[in-house]
Amino acid sequence: DQVSNLTVAIRIRPMGAKELGTNVVKIRDKELIIRTQPSGASGMATDHIFQYDHIFWSCDESDPIYATQEDVFMTLGKPLLNNAFRGYNGCLFAYGQTGSGKSFSMMGRNTCDSIDIDTERYSGVTPRFCKDLFERVRTLDKGWIATVEVSYFEIYNEKIHDLLASSSCVSNRTPLKVREHPIWGPYVVDLSVHTVKTYEELRDWLLQGNKNRATAATSMNEKSSRSHSIFSIELSLCERIKGEDMSRRSKVSLIDLAGSERLGNSHNTEKIREGVYINKSLLTLGKVISALADQKKNQFVPYRDSVLTWLLRESLGGNSLTAMLATISPASTQLEETLATLRYACQARSIVNRARVNESPHD
Ligand code: ADP
Ligand code: MG
Repeated sequence: DQVSNLTVAIRIRPMGAKELGTNVVKIRDKELIIRTQPSGASGMATDHIFQYDHIFWSCDESDPIYATQEDVFMTLGKPLLNNAFRGYNGCLFAYGQTGSGKSFSMMGRNTCDSIDIDTERYSGVTPRFCKDLFERVRTLDKGWIATVEVSYFEIYNEKIHDLLASSSCVSNRTPLKVREHPIWGPYVVDLSVHTVKTYEELRDWLLQGNKNRATAATSMNEKSSRSHSIFSIELSLCERIKGEDMSRRSKVSLIDLAGSERLGNSHNTEKIREGVYINKSLLTLGKVISALADQKKNQFVPYRDSVLTWLLRESLGGNSLTAMLATISPASTQLEETLATLRYACQARSIVNRARVNESPHD
């Protein structure tokens, strides 16, 4: 039961109010085309053409091809959900510069507002995933028992902070440690895990985590754009067959990555060439992705070089299905960052992995 496991998608957000420059992004079938201004001796405009598994054109709501939040969920979230019920791990991460639409796609328009989170129009992949999960649980055949557990943490400067810890632990900001379990792999020590019985209960944890993330960002005088947030849902399914308990468990992580923009002035081409990222995790994620993309057996993959990749090890290279949503702005003013994001996503696209079902009879 082997499945190829990586999907890479691009989403183009609407022009911002201050961005009434030119739109440099076009799409044609599954190709995304960036037209750059005429320059150099030839004076010719250059087309950069990229191909992905999916391109979500969300630039203009009046456009018939406009991709909605539901479209993004159905394409990227739903397969992860279906696979979770079959016992596969999954992982969806949003990658892109700050302001390109990562949080909008993953969570919704106003990430701390329950009304926005639940609004059909704005609700992002994460709440849709959770709602669907409970609908699926309700329709399980008799004899199955489902347990749903959630955790939510952020990684800021390589330190882990629980976003769902009781009391005021988030403001204390005592970082948690990562350890490696001989069978289940890397995990966060003392991370709070919450069992939820309904979508509403789950949604409340989501909102609390989002609020904690926002509060922590303010109190540290830093933008949440510098942290990665990892929301994980663990599903256990049990069934009694001929007197024997069969269990199947899977974990899906929905990740809103830190902004991918590079240090300093984005017009500093030297820095762009050097590939200086604001964030060590993203740099390592890139290395991990290209090592996996190489497809050479026994190639060293530097998972342990960052906390994010270490914790995502099973999701990227191992027993998991992975989706990447790279978000971009259509504006000419963001061209350099947009090209960097598109290249990063292209590199990721060549990962091919195999997933294994987490299924075992109980002892
Ligand atoms: P990021 O998390 O990447 O920093 P946000 O998700 O916060 O970016 O998006 C920046 C702004 O653009 C927000 O005001 C958000 O509501 C808006 N936005 C992003 N993507 C879309 C979209 N596809 N449709 C409508 N508005 C969007
Ligand atoms: Mg954000």
